[in-house]
Amino acid sequence: MRYYMRGYHILIISLLVMSLVLELPAVAADNKDTGKGKYIDTHVHLMILREGPQEQTGAEGPFQGPRQKGEMRPPPDRPRDKAGPKPSERSEILDYLAAGENLIKIMDQYGVKKALLMPPPQIPEQVGRVRNSSAVNLAVVKKHPERFALVAGGSELNPLINGTKPSEVNESIRTGFRREAEKLVESGAKGFGEMSVLHVAMQEKHNYSQAAADHPLFLDLADIAARHNIPIDIHMEAVLSPMETPPFLANVSHNPKTLPATIPAFERLLQHNRKAKIVWQHIGWDNTGNQTPDLLQRLLREHPNLYAALRVEEFNLRMRPFRPNALTGDDGTIKPEWRQLIGEFPDRFMIGSDEFVGIPGVTRRMPKSFALTWALLEQLPSDLAWKIGHENAARVYNLK
Ligand SMILES: [Zn+2]
Repeated sequence: MRYYMRGYHILIISLLVMSLVLELPAVAADNKDTGKGKYIDTHVHLMILREGPQEQTGAEGPFQGPRQKGEMRPPPDRPRDKAGPKPSERSEILDYLAAGENLIKIMDQYGVKKALLMPPPQIPEQVGRVRNSSAVNLAVVKKHPERFALVAGGSELNPLINGTKPSEVNESIRTGFRREAEKLVESGAKGFGEMSVLHVAMQEKHNYSQAAADHPLFLDLADIAARHNIPIDIHMEAVLSPMETPPFLANVSHNPKTLPATIPAFERLLQHNRKAKIVWQHIGWDNTGNQTPDLLQRLLREHPNLYAALRVEEFNLRMRPFRPNALTGDDGTIKPEWRQLIGEFPDRFMIGSDEFVGIPGVTRRMPKSFALTWALLEQLPSDLAWKIGHENAARVYNLK
């Protein structure tokens, strides 16, 4: 009887798994029929983090320890030419190409035609040590131009902003920064990113970085972005006014005990140049409790150049014990307040899954977000899903 029951359970589980597996081609077929196998994911990272203790890296690259108070940040020493990979990077490119091929397989399962690849936001201490540069991502984009496009600057521009105090910015720094940004556009970047305004460390090997959104170099970047009609992709915790760091983040030794306000300076960036399109990434992945639908509603109403990219991450109690303002409830259903907001601004939302994709069997497991984020669209009427999943991103990033 016991064996019979066990067999019965296995049968039921097998049927459940089969039904899940069988569903995937059905989704793809549906996309094909409706022309919706053309979705665009505006925010994906390739990341080769090998299993094992020898690689002291965080989720967004090798981390050299926090900057001490008053310590000068070294200027970036990365060679200036962004036209192509350096010889030392060539050996890494095969890894990234393999990760890209893996990503294409995942995209095909969900009807995603194109993904914007970009280096995560890096700090000066990581320059020259992190393999995930704009150049490496560009190499993958060039191999698969139909499936990928480049967003660049997280590994070049972000350290420059992060490593320069606003009061230190002078004409020669600005000239160098602009030249760097222009080179990225020339190399084919469809946007600047991933840029960090406030990036908190989720664990000891992850980095903390902060630069006010109205930093003079961010304002310059807005002008350059406007001139080329390309957007800036921003990672920023919502902080309305200085607040105590939430306990689960305060436990990470290099996060500060108080988080600085981000929203007032962010609004000054939005006002600085209305032709500069700003995409606030990771909406729904809130670590402060301030990223409410009400805040988004006010900002979207007052700032016509603001766009918001949605993200749903798998629930990981150990990494993130709470998930305020998540887009979905525990059952995956979109919360009514978010559904209403998306409907109020159908031309301003897009998808940015923020999945870190590596090589199966080689890369360390990272939190998953691709499937859960893309599942959002299945809950929206088809015309709205098409705008969020394709049209808005195609327009904002000038994609075919
Ligand atoms: Zn990010």
